[in-house]
Amino acid sequence: MSGRRRRRPHSARRRERPGERPRWWTLRRAQNRKPATYRCPLCGGLLPALSEHALLLPEGKSTGRRHAHSSCVEAARRAGRLPTRDEWRRTQPRPPSPWRRLLARLRAR
Ligand SMILES: [Zn+2]
Repeated sequence: MSGRRRRRPHSARRRERPGERPRWWTLRRAQNRKPATYRCPLCGGLLPALSEHALLLPEGKSTGRRHAHSSCVEAARRAGRLPTRDEWRRTQPRPPSPWRRLLARLRAR
């Protein structure tokens, strides 16, 4: 008999609750004509709307869209923090299609 199991307290560390954050983002290039100033959600810095920047749409919705620096978006994308819909879908388990189930059954014989 081996003793008790070891637990790593750090593995339980999770800051974000599920559902609190969009699962994926639609990214668009944006350049406004109106002289507004936004605040970039990624770095917290100011973003003049007249400069070329990126528009972040949470799960493709235009409500809650954010304006961000292109460079911040690129950095976040490289860090894997702004997955696109396709990237997010690739991480989701797929239900087996009838065709796949049939193949699996044939192979099992
Ligand atoms: Zn920024």
